[in-house]
Amino acid sequence: MIRLDGKETSNTIKEEIKDQVTEMKAKGERVPHLAAVLVGTDGASLTYVGSKVRSCEYVGFESTLIQLEETITEEALLAQIDTLNKDERLDGYIVQLPLPKHINEEKILLAIDPKKDVDGFHPANFGRMALDLDAFIPATPFGIMQLLERYKVPTSGKHCVVVGRSHIVGRPISILMSQKGPAGDATVTVAHSRTKNLAELTKQADIIVMALGIPEYLTADMVKEGAAIIDVGITRVTDESHPKGYVIKGDVAFDEVAAKASYITPVPGGVGPMTIAMLLKNTLLARQWNLA
Ligand code: NDP
Repeated sequence: MIRLDGKETSNTIKEEIKDQVTEMKAKGERVPHLAAVLVGTDGASLTYVGSKVRSCEYVGFESTLIQLEETITEEALLAQIDTLNKDERLDGYIVQLPLPKHINEEKILLAIDPKKDVDGFHPANFGRMALDLDAFIPATPFGIMQLLERYKVPTSGKHCVVVGRSHIVGRPISILMSQKGPAGDATVTVAHSRTKNLAELTKQADIIVMALGIPEYLTADMVKEGAAIIDVGITRVTDESHPKGYVIKGDVAFDEVAAKASYITPVPGGVGPMTIAMLLKNTLLARQWNLA
C-alpha cells in the first residue's frame, strides 16, 4: 500500500513554483500577484486566508489581503470586485467563502473576471474545464489530479466511483478523470445521496473518490482488494482526549480500508494540503497567461 502524501507533494509543488518565480525575477519580470478578499472576522476563514497569504510570501509572490467589514453592502463589495478586475498589477484573486448572509454569493462569484478567477468557481472557467480548454481548475480537484499523476496511480481504463457531486469537488473531479490525458481516461460513476446500493458500486471500483463529508463512511467491506482510495472529507469530530477537543476525520475508515488498498490518501495530510499549492499554481498560470 502506498500512502499518497499530500504534504510532501504540496511542498514539492511549492518549491517548483518558487524556482519559477526566481527565474522570473532574474529576467526582470513582474512576479505573480494574488489578492484575497476577506469579509468579516470568521475564525476559520481568517486562518485559511492567513495561510494562503503566508504561502504566497514563501514562494515569492506578491500578495494583498483586503479585509472588509462584516456589514459591507453587496453593492460596495461588487465595487471592490470591479476595482480588482481592473487592477493590472493583480494576476488573480479569491473571495473567501462563506460570505455574510445578506450578500448573494453567486452574484459576487459571477462578477469576478474569469481571467483572474484563480479559485476556478466562475461558470466560464467551469465550462472551459469541461471542454478541455485552458482553465483555472478548482484547487481541490486540481490537487487530486496532481496526486494521481505524480504517484502514477493507474487511471486509464479504470473504473472510478466518485461519491459526492458538489460543484467544488465531486462534479469537477468526475469530469477531469473522464477526460483524456494524465490521471484521466477513467470510466467514471458519480454517486450521491440518492444512489441506491452504494456498496455494490464501490466494490466494483478500481478507484474511489470520497467527497461527501460523513466521517469514516467508507468501510473495508465496501472496497475491493487493491483499490486506490482518495479521501477528500474533512470533519471535526469531538474528542475530549485531544488537547484541541476534536480530531479531524476523513470519509474513509482509514486503518481497515488501507489494509486492502493499493494507494490511499490520509486525513489529515492527503488532499487537504494540496489545495493551497494548487491555488498558487493557478496564480502562476494567471501570470503566464497574462504575458502570452
Ligand atoms: P457537499 O456537502 O457540498 O456535498 C456532499 C455530497 O455528498 C453531495 O453531493 C451529497 O449528495 C453527497 N452525499 C451526502 N450523503 C451521502 C450518502 N449517504 N451517500 C452518498 N452520497 C452522499 O460537500 P463538499 O463537496 O463541499 O465537501 C465534501 C467533503 O469534502 C466535506 O467533508 C468537506 O469538508 C471536504 N472538503 C475538503 C477539501 C479539502 O481541501 N480537502 C475541500 C473541499 C471540501 P446530494 O448532492 O444528493 O446532496
